[in-house]
Amino acid sequence: MLSLDRPKSHSSPELARATRVLVVEDEDLIREMLVLALEGEGYEVVTAEDGRAALNLLQEAELPEVEFPYNLLILDLMLPQINGLDLCRLLRYQANHVPILIVSAKSSETDRVLGLEVGADDYITKPFSMRELIARCRALLRRQRFCSLPQTSVLQARDITLYPQECRVTVRGKEVSLSPKEFRLLELFISHPRRVWSREQLIDRVWGPDFLGDTKTVDVHIRWLREKLEQDPSQPEYLITVRGFGYRFG
Ligand code: CA
Repeated sequence: MLSLDRPKSHSSPELARATRVLVVEDEDLIREMLVLALEGEGYEVVTAEDGRAALNLLQEAELPEVEFPYNLLILDLMLPQINGLDLCRLLRYQANHVPILIVSAKSSETDRVLGLEVGADDYITKPFSMRELIARCRALLRRQRFCSLPQTSVLQARDITLYPQECRVTVRGKEVSLSPKEFRLLELFISHPRRVWSREQLIDRVWGPDFLGDTKTVDVHIRWLREKLEQDPSQPEYLITVRGFGYRFG
């Protein structure tokens, strides 16, 4: 059954055109707490109570006549209509690169890794402190701004072309859809060919020093990048494992 509820906008007029955050959460109490905390940060907050309503809002925001897309998506996993993981997967498949922070009661390593694999940028487990949530939101928004800084040159490595200004990558002439993290990783690798990076260095440069997860996150993203870039991901030619050290490009 389709939900016909209209999304509730909580924007305050003086902060219109500020950072827009979409909160997708079916539990009223948590959703209201999130709205309060995010509005306290000066963000404009829009909410959805199920996955389909969220998808509709995100797709509407992608229309060319809409001036202000969402800057951040805060996503619960257990949702009616379309669950959080499927929504995440679908958005990335549609090349929607909105930063995604998963907020979930599921706390196992598998769920966390799966969340990152389907294209989320960060993961926080319930119960969480609002301070930590806000810190992670800020970090994601900072990196998004970094990614959208204007740059001029196009980076090329054999079959891979990276357009920093457009946050776009083609492989063997075909456009590939990368998450913001994957994009930053690839950009870092491609700008420093053959340099060996440790997992900690990559975390620092791509996720930022305030990242609270562990270095397995790097391996997950490398694996996913390989699947998108390499002709044979099991015999990588671009993203090479340097045993005992980390990774290098080419
Ligand atoms: Ca839920």
